[in-house]
Amino acid sequence: MASPRHHSIDLAFDRDHLWHPYTSTSKPLPVYPVARAEGVYLELEDGRRLIDGMSSWWAAIHGYNHPRLNQAAKDQIDRMAHVMFGGLTHEPAVELGKKLVALTPDPLNKVFLADSGSVSVEVAIKMALQYWLSQGRAEKHRLIALRNGYHGDTFGAMATCDPVNGMHHLFSKVLPRHLFAEAPTIGYHDEWDDRDLDALRTLLEAHADEVAAVILEPIVQGAGGMRLYHPEYLRGARRLCDEHGVLLIFDEIATGFGRSGELFALEHAGVCPDILCLGKALTGGYMTLAATLCSDRVAAGICDGEAGVLMHGPTFMGNPLACAVANASIDLLLESDWRGQVAGIQSQLRRELEPCRRLPGVADVRALGAIGVLELEQPCDVAATQKMLVERGVWIRPFGKLVYIMPPYGIEPEQLTRLVDAMAAVATG
Ligand SMILES: *Cc1c(COP(=O)(O)O)cnc(C)c1O
Repeated sequence: MASPRHHSIDLAFDRDHLWHPYTSTSKPLPVYPVARAEGVYLELEDGRRLIDGMSSWWAAIHGYNHPRLNQAAKDQIDRMAHVMFGGLTHEPAVELGKKLVALTPDPLNKVFLADSGSVSVEVAIKMALQYWLSQGRAEKHRLIALRNGYHGDTFGAMATCDPVNGMHHLFSKVLPRHLFAEAPTIGYHDEWDDRDLDALRTLLEAHADEVAAVILEPIVQGAGGMRLYHPEYLRGARRLCDEHGVLLIFDEIATGFGRSGELFALEHAGVCPDILCLGKALTGGYMTLAATLCSDRVAAGICDGEAGVLMHGPTFMGNPLACAVANASIDLLLESDWRGQVAGIQSQLRRELEPCRRLPGVADVRALGAIGVLELEQPCDVAATQKMLVERGVWIRPFGKLVYIMPPYGIEPEQLTRLVDAMAAVATG
């Protein structure tokens, strides 16, 4: 690695001028300057190396600075970084489309390449609304979402996030009013009980006439609570949506590409949605790119209608550079033993997190695939906790009561143990 540089970054400017996610410019929290990243390590400007537990928010599944992904980006940038997707097409987009159609369940044959996860959710919602408009069912304009869900920060997506933890209160005057079902309560490994679907069933029975789609994160509710639920819930949701004539949207932006132990979390249940959102790990964490897939039936329904087209088309749609890296990332994943790696991470997480359950202040521990969660009884002080974690040589970003990790799949057992020890240290203070 390059020799460490000291104070070459203007942190005062950062503090005074740059927004970071969910931050105050009046009371900025410290940020840690990263000089470079390699494999499972982030290297800070002062030379400290941190084991990465976050994969930069689910995205960097292969770790950082991967030669194959670097090469794909270099090769593509020498051809063209970007061209508009209106009226033009290119090999990286076509290849990515082929891969996504082949990897996802059979009915999902139409691909919209969006520029971020939130936008892919906007597109999914728009697809659902346009589908019903085209069927002459304009009254089907609401969505059913789950409590504790998270679908992104743009207005359409935000309106489907958890109504209490989300931003509904703040923006209540402008957000569309959707319907919320109690989140599934039965854990991934617990015994299934059909009553877990009662809330969703009740909403559908009362409101199907005005509902376009149910949107949910399959198996893993991510940013809204890191909750892991039973696959039978998804089979039930599919059945209920079919019975009530409502579309089903799966948001796999966090879970896609192996994170939950299956390539897509929907495979835990063998259920196919009408619309599927992918993002985050799509490019192995290199660039922003997302995709919304839908079935032929939904696509035909949209295009038969008054508008005749799907009314969406961002400037950077289908960006060739991002598509080229996505293609390399998917190839790399499929050639690797990701299934073995993720299974190994899961069993180590279960084994090593379990003793934390008995620590004072710990409400729960849980793990699925390459996701490990320690839930505290009280929210932690993020700045102080973050400092302690950095001093221990790990990068974990606590969020309220949640201390969670989703490391790159290639993490070594010793490195994973250091992450789990650091999670335990947050609980013991
Ligand atoms: C991160 C995330 C989003 C939003 O994606 P962005 O790329 O941040 O816009 C949407 N849904 C889920 C489940 C996510 O984890």
